Amino acid sequence: ASLIRGEVANLPLYDPGADPAEVAALSGSRRVIKLSNNENPYGLSPAVAEAIRLSVAGGVSRYPDPTGKRLAEAIGQSLDVPAERVVLGNGSENLLELLCQAVLDPGDLVVTQAPGFSLHEIFPRVMGARVVKVPVTAAFGFDAAAWRDALAAGPKLVFLANPCNPTGVMLSADELEQVVAGLPESALLVLDEAYGEFARANPEYPDGLAALRALDRPWIVLRTFSKAYGLAGVRVGYGIASDAALIQALDRVRTPYNVNQPAQDAAIAALGDHEHLANTVRRTGLEIARVTDRLRGAGLCVVPSWTNFLFIDTGCRSDWVAQELHRAGIIVKAWREPGYENFIRASLSTPEENDVFVRCLTEICAKGQ
Ligand code: PMP
Repeated sequence: ASLIRGEVANLPLYDPGADPAEVAALSGSRRVIKLSNNENPYGLSPAVAEAIRLSVAGGVSRYPDPTGKRLAEAIGQSLDVPAERVVLGNGSENLLELLCQAVLDPGDLVVTQAPGFSLHEIFPRVMGARVVKVPVTAAFGFDAAAWRDALAAGPKLVFLANPCNPTGVMLSADELEQVVAGLPESALLVLDEAYGEFARANPEYPDGLAALRALDRPWIVLRTFSKAYGLAGVRVGYGIASDAALIQALDRVRTPYNVNQPAQDAAIAALGDHEHLANTVRRTGLEIARVTDRLRGAGLCVVPSWTNFLFIDTGCRSDWVAQELHRAGIIVKAWREPGYENFIRASLSTPEENDVFVRCLTEICAKGQ
């Protein structure tokens, strides 16, 4: 018998995108433009940098607070939820993993989106669960009939990202309500709002907490400090659950010290700097609108995005486009799922770097036609 479990041996490997050092060597450019991981080009708030400095200066020889009490309380207070219903993760991806470990038996059904976030599929498969992915309509919208059918098949867990990665599309309150209405009795709804801070600039964006508050089913809303707060390297995400019992189940499966102390201290400071967050969201929104217009003006199909990234139909094989961009020192993510082989996902950077990206991409696509 093989040492490695069958489920694991057959898993797709998470694709973090090209290595900046390799792209630097390939392109000969000293400055690589990294648009592959939906990071924040404006960086962290100065108050957060100072909190991390002080935290490390205070020493790291002790284990961190195992429950992240101060941070959980700060999050709870900011959202008017008791701290007992808040859980912290080493990034929100850690919470996706813990939810699967706590809930899934082999053979259980999980429903998520296509195209979607790869970890919404990988973590369930680690547990031996079956994953059904609900496609979007031809216009990248919500396919009500496909969702109804998928939910009727009786999933134990539903992963719904709003807005969605990689499309950037936002579900309306009505669409979210349709998913909620179709949930089987015992299913857990995981609403992944990794990009929610960007979408909240749109008055139509349904705030997940408000939408699910009265739901008499188990649910958890996941958020992260990695995107709009600019703390991807620090690794903190959090979940707000329907009830404390779900948090206690996650506490049983998580590693006891899953969020380090400088990360906890950074996140507390980040929550307090509203102005930095507002600036990031405003600048990101302006660039999303500007770059979308420019790429459409050059004849490319760009999906309307309420995030910090764009899903772009290049009209050419995405692997080739990504390779050409690498030669120019620009890293994007090439999509390979059937039906999306011509799509790249590019998170935006500063206006200067975005201009370089637009120029290179339009030149490459013109050459490839
Ligand atoms: N959910 C979605 C939809 C994402 O795109 C990401 C990051 N790519 C995550 C969760 C995980 O982010 P993190 O672990 O940094 O919080």
